[in-house]
Amino acid sequence: MMLSSIIVLYQGEIRMVNQRKVVIIGDGAVGSSIAFTLTQSSIVNEIVIIDVNKDKAEGDALDLNHCVALTKPKSIKAGEYKDIKHAKVIILACGVGQREGETRIQLLERNKRIFDSVIDSMNPYLDDDAIILVVTNPVDILSYYVMSKVKLSASQVIGSGTVLDTARFKYLLSNDVGVDARSIHAYVIGEHGDSEVVALSATRIAGYPIEKFYSAKRKQRLEHIVREVKESAYEIISKKGSTYYGIAVSTKRILESIIGDEHSVLTVSALINDAYNGQIKDVYLSLPCVVSSAGVEGIITPELSPEEQEKLANSARILKENL
Ligand code: NAD
Repeated sequence: MMLSSIIVLYQGEIRMVNQRKVVIIGDGAVGSSIAFTLTQSSIVNEIVIIDVNKDKAEGDALDLNHCVALTKPKSIKAGEYKDIKHAKVIILACGVGQREGETRIQLLERNKRIFDSVIDSMNPYLDDDAIILVVTNPVDILSYYVMSKVKLSASQVIGSGTVLDTARFKYLLSNDVGVDARSIHAYVIGEHGDSEVVALSATRIAGYPIEKFYSAKRKQRLEHIVREVKESAYEIISKKGSTYYGIAVSTKRILESIIGDEHSVLTVSALINDAYNGQIKDVYLSLPCVVSSAGVEGIITPELSPEEQEKLANSARILKENL
């Protein structure tokens, strides 16, 4: 017996945004890992996957649907741009990734061309309170580009920024000092790329400043960790071609804060209009941001050493030069 013959189902069109609907554009290594991660969670109840390779999107949707009975109820399908209507978050993971030895900024021209067609196709269907989450690299520059081309406010266009780099830093510190990574407050800020800044002066391990754990004798160890944070993507790419699990879980964490209206502080990439006495303005980069269902609700400027401030200003300069 069909369920509809037992109870009367509502047949009218639901006009409001589905606060738990997510569209993923780009179903490559990153997009499909995001879809798989979200399939296992209850934060979303609808996932639409869009890719120029329709077979790949359809194949992944079928495969993921077979997880639903074992995880959390949700609808998963391969879709088209019109499916963006009523979606709360649109994740942009389309475009090429780094080849071995390539920097993220070197991807700009190729991915900008892809974004031009994606933005044109997406624009007519965006709801007023939708949020766009850019993951494709170079993520800061492309986030600015998207913001300049869509009808949403800057606070609704977010880049995944250095959420992953911050997680890598916490993981490495955690292993080194033997404290749960979740008991560490730390921020990697600036570009998601070579000029990023590990903000040591804003790092707290179980409430203590980092110097308590890294005296002069252990300074080299800390320098090694900082280098590892910056180089780990290159190392992963040289060993297996691309990185995807870390960014998938970072994306899920950002979505939790958006969809759950959590106001968590995350180092997403946001439009910075005037920070550090005007040193940084009109550029997308990562600073600790308050992330809610409205997008970026607030930007925090941690106290930095003069050297860190100079490095951050340099990172902003590099991003602006490439805009
Ligand atoms: P991939 O090559 O595996 O996948 C890219 C996908 O985009 C492919 O499925 C392709 O068909 C699709 N695509 C291309 N043009 C499209 C279009 N016009 N419309 C829809 N889909 C289109 O690459 P990947 O490894 O998944 O990486 C994707 C992006 O994510 C890269 O730019 C990579 O650098 C970036 N990335 C970002 C982070 C981060 O921390 N922000 C981490 C890892 C990777």
